[in-house]
Amino acid sequence: MAFTLPALPYAYDALEPIIDAATMEIHHSRHHKAYVDNLNKALEGNEAADASIESLMANISKHSPAVRNNGGGHYNHSMFWQILMPSGKSEGPSAQLAEAINNTFGSLDALKEKIAAAGATRFGSGWAWLCVDANKALCVCSTPNQDNPLMDIAECPGTPILGIDVWEHAYYLKYQNKRPDYLTAIWNVINWEQVSKNYASAL
Ligand code: MN
Repeated sequence: MAFTLPALPYAYDALEPIIDAATMEIHHSRHHKAYVDNLNKALEGNEAADASIESLMANISKHSPAVRNNGGGHYNHSMFWQILMPSGKSEGPSAQLAEAINNTFGSLDALKEKIAAAGATRFGSGWAWLCVDANKALCVCSTPNQDNPLMDIAECPGTPILGIDVWEHAYYLKYQNKRPDYLTAIWNVINWEQVSKNYASAL
């Protein structure tokens, strides 16, 4: 069973003006598609070719760099599209998630600053994450390239409930070198209902 590119749950221009339509179209139809195509190619004839993406991530140390990079790319982007939505449409975290955020970080604003700092200080390309760790606690971290906290080689293992792409291809057309501006603006288009669902499933 080959992996397929999931459809976006909204139009390419739905996240304007925070994320422009050209960035979304290139990001989804070219970057994500290339990860899917290259993952399928890398798994041809592999005994793990029928494994789920989560199972591939959990055993990534047994796989080639091509499976790690493209499998990570497929998992990460599939989550990224889901945790975004048009500006002003989200009502914020569920009561359950809000309580955990307040207990762990002090406030939602403090959490946003922590994730933005994790993304801004990631040298080169990578992701900033909000995860549930093995003790069911919330934690923030970042990973390089297309790695993620589900991978068995992750320095910060956990179940991601929100991931923010800090590769230049995610923001360069609109924000150029100003990654921190992108990391401030993106909170306007976060789908907290989906993040809250991800949190409930991770517990
Ligand atoms: Mn990307």
